[in-house]
Amino acid sequence: METSVQFEFIGRVRSCYPEKFGIPRQSGLVKSSSGRLEFSFGYDREEMVRDLEGFSHLWLQFFFHQAVEEGWRPTVRPPWLGGQKRVGVFATRSPHRPNFLGLSVVRLLGISVVDGRLGLDLAELDLVDGTPVLDVKPYLPYSDSRPEATSGFVHWNEASCPVVFSDGAREFCVEYEQRTGRPLATLISETLAQDPRPASQRQQERSYGMALWDVNVRWQVGADGVFVVAEISDGQI
Ligand code: SAH
Repeated sequence: METSVQFEFIGRVRSCYPEKFGIPRQSGLVKSSSGRLEFSFGYDREEMVRDLEGFSHLWLQFFFHQAVEEGWRPTVRPPWLGGQKRVGVFATRSPHRPNFLGLSVVRLLGISVVDGRLGLDLAELDLVDGTPVLDVKPYLPYSDSRPEATSGFVHWNEASCPVVFSDGAREFCVEYEQRTGRPLATLISETLAQDPRPASQRQQERSYGMALWDVNVRWQVGADGVFVVAEISDGQI
């Protein structure tokens, strides 16, 4: 019997998240996150996506390429348990797992050809820019959705960390959205509402930087857990 198999990536995701820090811990949580699956040569064939546009959501199977260097661990500390307790890797969605395979439900906005290359326009992502993709399947609510499912130690609450913008940051977001059409302020608010800080740093007062598209965003945690967007800049001066 075979004990290994080789796969070829069918494409890569270009996403609004150029770095891992700040990316939501699951897909579907940040509605304004967006990106595009660009099919690779050989898989950029319109017949392969024929009739896909009728599905609002897709499963993406992908490779956690930025976890490979750090390797995988048999147990991990999920943020739900305050970063203290270890649970089995198979009880988590950690990137640091054997085979480094990821699975996300994302929203399909459309199918398009950009610069001659076929791709899927996507939203509600949890993927870093450049993530290699192995497969795409339609999400089938009649069988994939199980409202009776239990979720172990994961106690998710509708995230609602309030976010305030400095005047300068607010102005930058308005100007950036006019210039690029990208909803930067909404993406910042929804991304920070998920509290991207590692569980071990929630008690500390410090500032953080995160990248969204080509923009660097500096934020800190103010009184009462409010996230304050302080400084913001992009490649344009
Ligand atoms: N929904 C997926 C991913 C959950 S983990 C699944 O369950 O398999 C989500 C985290 O993976 C993100 O917060 C981000 O930090 C990290 N991530 C996203 N893309 C990655 C990549 N290509 N390599 C390594 N880590 C990645």
